Amino acid sequence: MNQLFKIFIIVLLTFSMVTSCVSNHQEAKVVEGNPNVILLIGDGMGLSQVSAAYYYGKNEPNFNRFKEIGLINTSSVKHKITDSGAAATALACGEKTYNGVIGLDKDSTEIPNLVEELSLIGFSTGVISTSSITHATPAGFYSHVWNRGMQYEIAEQLVNSELDFFAGGGTKWFMDREDGKLLIPELEKNNFLINSDITASTLDPNYKYAYLLAKDGMPSMLDDRGAFLPDYTKLALDYFTKRGGSFFLMVEGSQIDWAAHDNNSDYMIAEVLDFDKTVGVVMDYAELKGNTLVIVLADHETGGFALGTNDGDYSTIKPVFATYGHSTTLVPVFAYGPGAENFKGVYDNNDIFHKILSLTGN
Ligand SMILES: [Zn+2]
Repeated sequence: MNQLFKIFIIVLLTFSMVTSCVSNHQEAKVVEGNPNVILLIGDGMGLSQVSAAYYYGKNEPNFNRFKEIGLINTSSVKHKITDSGAAATALACGEKTYNGVIGLDKDSTEIPNLVEELSLIGFSTGVISTSSITHATPAGFYSHVWNRGMQYEIAEQLVNSELDFFAGGGTKWFMDREDGKLLIPELEKNNFLINSDITASTLDPNYKYAYLLAKDGMPSMLDDRGAFLPDYTKLALDYFTKRGGSFFLMVEGSQIDWAAHDNNSDYMIAEVLDFDKTVGVVMDYAELKGNTLVIVLADHETGGFALGTNDGDYSTIKPVFATYGHSTTLVPVFAYGPGAENFKGVYDNNDIFHKILSLTGN
């Protein structure tokens, strides 16, 4: 274990013993083990998308709660401009690969992802996204396929993955399949409760929880998705707290990317604000519980988005896009919690995986 981290634990333990009048054994239990890791990915969320939260949000953005900031280069192994498959593989598996590939290295060899690595050492794991749960970014955290379009295979791999909790859209990949396979009963066989109506007090840590809440992607914020992302993130945190021990949770704001592909700034800003609200839920948890590393980043920028002038008028902003595709500008990394200082600097997207594993007993 990292020396600095040991000191952190001692300080934290001492601090909680001195300050807490009410004994809280759950906090102490978590502090003894590895830090929890919560990775929030704004798909397509470059610095201008983050900045939009500062100009279009009603409240102070939760991005403001971070002190350790870095930048990552998102290029894939062959292309200067990455897609979400290669980017997810770099973040989740620690190696740059070809665009479109999930969980395989540049020689097409399967490489372990964070969910596999961390579940081996006793972490509970979860994935939440506003896309189909089989979409490229979440898929990077539990599957291995040579083409991100293989969503039937990805769904099958999810059923047999180490995940304990997942939430998103994508029922079409689990039922009414072309091959007739019924994956919902398979999930139930693997101890999952599906779309279970639970609260923090009624959830049962002996089960795993699956939420498939739309046929494909979840509705957009402009289409009344409501508080899905912050609420299910909170539910996952309640679940992991009840299970005890350390956990890894990946949460993706998928539709920042989709809106930017459409060059639709109202849609994109609504998605950024929803993502920021979710960052707030996670930061509230991390600040209260301690021993939780929070990393907020993007897999790449989409749209070449800028907060430009309105025809030369410097008093108002006009959101503008330079492309309907992705761009290769460096994207920001925000970190909080034990080891957060390791995420400062300018480095490659695949270093995120190695930095996380170096802090979690590997
Ligand atoms: Zn995209």
